[in-house]
Amino acid sequence: MNAESKVTPEHLRRAAYLYIRQSTLRQVLENTESTERQYALSQRAVALGWPKEGIVVIDNDQGQSGASASEREGFQRLVLEVGLGKAGIVMGLEVSRLARNCADWHRLLEICALTHTLILDEDGLYDPANYNDRLLLGLKGTMSEAELHVLKARLIGGVLNKAQRGELKLPLPVGLVYDEEDKVILDPDQQVQQSLRVFFATFERTRSAWATVQVFRREGLKFPKRGLAGSGEIAWQELTHGITLDTLHNPRYAGAFCFGRTRSWTDTEGKHHCQQLPREQWRFLKRDLHAGYLTWEVFLSNQEQLLQNLQGRGGARRKAGPPREGPALLQGLVLCGKCGRSMTVRYHHRFGRLTPDYMCQKDCVEQGQPVCQRIAGTSIDEAIGQLLVRSVTPLALEVALNVQSEIQTRLAEADRLRQQQVQRAQYEMERARVRYMRVDPNNRLVADTLEGQWNEKLRLLAQAKEECESQRRLDAAQLTEQQKAKILALATDFPRLWQESTTSDRDRKRMARLLLEDVTLRREQEIIVQVRFKGGAIQELRLPAPKLVWVVRKTKPEIVQEIDRLLDERTESQIATELNQRGWHTSAGHPFTMRMVHRLRRDHHLRSRSERLRIKGWLTTKEIARQIHCKPSLVKYWRHQGLLSGIRLNDKEEYIYEPPKTDIVAQIKQRARTTFE
Ligand SMILES: [Zn+2]
Repeated sequence: MNAESKVTPEHLRRAAYLYIRQSTLRQVLENTESTERQYALSQRAVALGWPKEGIVVIDNDQGQSGASASEREGFQRLVLEVGLGKAGIVMGLEVSRLARNCADWHRLLEICALTHTLILDEDGLYDPANYNDRLLLGLKGTMSEAELHVLKARLIGGVLNKAQRGELKLPLPVGLVYDEEDKVILDPDQQVQQSLRVFFATFERTRSAWATVQVFRREGLKFPKRGLAGSGEIAWQELTHGITLDTLHNPRYAGAFCFGRTRSWTDTEGKHHCQQLPREQWRFLKRDLHAGYLTWEVFLSNQEQLLQNLQGRGGARRKAGPPREGPALLQGLVLCGKCGRSMTVRYHHRFGRLTPDYMCQKDCVEQGQPVCQRIAGTSIDEAIGQLLVRSVTPLALEVALNVQSEIQTRLAEADRLRQQQVQRAQYEMERARVRYMRVDPNNRLVADTLEGQWNEKLRLLAQAKEECESQRRLDAAQLTEQQKAKILALATDFPRLWQESTTSDRDRKRMARLLLEDVTLRREQEIIVQVRFKGGAIQELRLPAPKLVWVVRKTKPEIVQEIDRLLDERTESQIATELNQRGWHTSAGHPFTMRMVHRLRRDHHLRSRSERLRIKGWLTTKEIARQIHCKPSLVKYWRHQGLLSGIRLNDKEEYIYEPPKTDIVAQIKQRARTTFE
């Protein structure tokens, strides 16, 4: 069967479709030759008998990758037109490329077969309804897919081979560059190098990413940045928390090469996903492959520290908040030793005093879980207070002042970095000036642009100088001998100040915050208190667990008996006064209060005063008002008139009344008629 015999008049009545596509924009730009080949196919259609104006060109897939049909509008349009029976012939270069993956390809063939549509490529003319032709086309599609697979495998294989040897040239983080032989070296720019060294040293010292950011901000230091893929000129930016974490997590700074730190895949909907893998699952990791800023061991310990910080802060930065009223010394500073969350303070009255409990209850608030830990705070606060008095000694401060002088050395280092920044700005300004000087003054457009750049560089230089100067002034605020003496004197004073009764809770809390970073509590056999000081020093205290409430509250039985007896006649506040007058006091040595009498009565299940009288038949105001047929508000009047006898029930002016005798009731009713009517 020759080509011409496949084309019937029916085919010629329908349109010819020329489908043009190339996979990437780059191919479209560079490979115009293949575009020409594709258009040449339309000449073949004309030769086969289609009129020139009957040729429909579909080329809106130009510049789109051919991997999936769902994104290609042109291909879908083609399928639709063929399905509607509009096409007599479909033309395309290397027809197997029409639809690269098999599902698309088979679908189009199927539709072509059903609608008796012919297919034409450079090799020949096919009729998909014809079994032999279809087999040929199917084979071509499979071959094309196989080709793609081999191509991909070869590419990836090459990459993996290189990666395995650690030779794959991946973009480097700032501070590392490739030399002429593609070896990784430290950035020859001394300022960049120095900044990274200061960065890692700062983390080493503070052990916290956040604190590192703060140090950079405080000292006005900038962090270097290069363009995409480690190229382009160096720029300087503010250090952020994100950059800090990226830098600390990047193993290249430890001289290690790694590949396959993430796993990525495309789901059934064509969406791209990417997931970070734990270090054990990285595909390739080669240590000590090139120069770095820290050793592998330091890198690992940094990772460990970052993980700990994350857990210690409950996944987020803890906010201590300002000191509030209330005696709890450690409010806002306490961490739970079990789960790492911040503990809150709950106050309650105990022995007539406001006492704090430290509670870990975030889960219980948010998810209705039981409280994680609850620890009575009084003894802890006392122990911490003593610890502070012990720690803030002239000797300790002497040490602190020595540390201060070491800090001065570090400030000098920072100053040198800022100086370099000024020098660089100076150099760049010079360069911009020279560029401007060299340009032909008649070329106004270029000259104006260059002048603008020069002015900008001048502004940056002034800014860098200003920053450097102001920071230097701040740093220069060193401690004079006189100030040092003052600080030492204060240390001698500290215990007195701490214990003085005129010092408020809030001031004590402020002092604690100046000295302490945080305090971790954990209840075991005893209470383990881990105190972290501002400088990073750690002290562990072990306190006996507070006794259970009923043991603490054990009041002498004779006192309870006496309260029981007095309750028959007196209110709770009267009892408290009575007991105090007798010189009695609580087990903790405090005088009695109405509240404590109330609590003792409740804890020992003694009947209240009103219960006792009610049992004897005494009446409330309402009840007696009903009996004498008057408003409750008038009951007080009759009591004042001496007709009703009642006694005070409590301190709220509530009375309870003895049941009146019948003649008294009659008398009241009689007098009510004459008085009120
Ligand atoms: Zn907890």
